[in-house]
Amino acid sequence: MNRLDTDVVVVGAGPTGLLLAGDLAAAGVRVTLVERRPPGISNITRAFAVHARTLEQLDARGLADELVASGTPITRMRLFGRPSLDLSRLPSRFAYLLVTPQYEVERLLERRARSTGVDFRYGTELRGLSQDTDQVTAEITGPDGTPTTLRARYLVGADGVRSAVRTTLGLPFPGRSVIRSLVLADVRLTEEPEDLLRVNGVGDAFAFIAPFGDGWYRVMGWNRARQVPDSEPVDLDELRAITRLALGTDYGMHDARWISRFHSDERQAPSYRVGRVLLAGDAAHVHSPAGGQGMNTGLQDAANLSWKLAAVLRADAPDPEALLDSYQGERHPVGATVLRSSGAIVRLAMARGPLLRTARALAARTLSSVRPAAAKVMGMISGLGIAYGPEIRRVPDLPLREGRLYELLRAGQFVLIAPEGTTPRLPDSAPTSPARLVRATWTDPARRTALLVRPDGYAFPAGR
Ligand SMILES: Cc1cc2nc3c(=O)[nH]c(=O)nc-3n(C[C@H](O)[C@H](O)[C@H](O)COP(=O)(O)OP(=O)(O)OC[C@H]3O[C@@H](n4cnc5c(N)ncnc54)[C@H](O)[C@@H]3O)c2cc1C
Repeated sequence: MNRLDTDVVVVGAGPTGLLLAGDLAAAGVRVTLVERRPPGISNITRAFAVHARTLEQLDARGLADELVASGTPITRMRLFGRPSLDLSRLPSRFAYLLVTPQYEVERLLERRARSTGVDFRYGTELRGLSQDTDQVTAEITGPDGTPTTLRARYLVGADGVRSAVRTTLGLPFPGRSVIRSLVLADVRLTEEPEDLLRVNGVGDAFAFIAPFGDGWYRVMGWNRARQVPDSEPVDLDELRAITRLALGTDYGMHDARWISRFHSDERQAPSYRVGRVLLAGDAAHVHSPAGGQGMNTGLQDAANLSWKLAAVLRADAPDPEALLDSYQGERHPVGATVLRSSGAIVRLAMARGPLLRTARALAARTLSSVRPAAAKVMGMISGLGIAYGPEIRRVPDLPLREGRLYELLRAGQFVLIAPEGTTPRLPDSAPTSPARLVRATWTDPARRTALLVRPDGYAFPAGR
């Protein structure tokens, strides 16, 4: 085969594409990142919540502490009028929700991707693609509009909700619109809310407020009485009125640095892989912003896919097809769960009628008083509760003789934890060669078992 232009083309330099491209380049894979925007990070805050599992993934790349310093950790959430969730109980080094603008996440990920050697092509748009058994050909236009092609072994569409990759593959994006006329703004407040994160719904309106920590607040509101298309003008008076309806006060909001009206869909591609082309992030799934899951789910898709693709490209995977299919097998059900749970939160917030209002009050009361229920919901929202079937579970940040597990994972390799002086045999299906392992030792000499931890911090089943 002729030498290809690159190993992997990643389309889209949003959070998903940046994390994926940076990981692949760090693993020694040649990556070209195609982004139609001109160079530079957008300063529009879309996502603003980074959850504990995502912070763990960033910790495994040496980026978490810097991100945490840019935002506000929140440990308490007041849902539907009750102090419902205490995040400080989360079993993680990051026992909180970090409020920080999406562009801070992108800034760190872009810096890392540059340092690992990603070939950035800004002002470049994917227009089409074709594939055969050996390669993918991406049709692109560069900044001067000239069409050209890029040939690679794999291509990943991280190109957002209107994904050209998904459309070109002919994949459907079934689902429906879940909420329209949501008003979103970043504002300053005259009065500080008593709870750092407040969500309330009264059936005819709901509102949400969270602090960025630098004097700016994210406010989101919805009013049943004003359901208009996204193109309809929006101003701060409209958001003030919604917030007064839902929270009883507008906290003297002023000086919006941006404000917009949008609608939200719930959709998921039926397949995240077609041959040598894969989908990740919003290109694969989109849902309501309730629960702040969009960016987090995309980043975790990228963390799940990057080591698998790298192992296949390095000929390290005993069964490359099965390993790539496991991306769909593991991440598609997570996407479906996020669609369901974020949809449930938004429907509860919009609930009208005595039955639904009772359900909302019951949900809030259960979360504030029933510990197992709260733990389950926090596990789902924080991402710490995500497991890939009964065997593949998240491994927490264990203290080891050689340091913390998530520090050892920064090598981007599997970590084999074993009792001192032993060399356990790797399972035959382990997609790593012994030469690429990081070896570590339990701090407790009494522990006799071994654990093979994947580069994304999940345990690989041993002994198969
Ligand atoms: C108004 C708004 C508010 C939001 N609020 C929240 C929130 O509060 N919490 C939350 O978790 N999520 C929120 N989201 C969702 C969150 O922003 C997304 O989930 C996240 O950005 C997804 O990241 P991504 O990398 O998958 O896609 P994106 O961030 O959409 O990145 C895709 C990239 O691909 C590029 N691209 C697209 N097509 C092409 C092409 N053909 N060729 C080359 N490049 C291309 C785009 O320019 C873009 O840079 C919000 C979204 C919006 C629009």
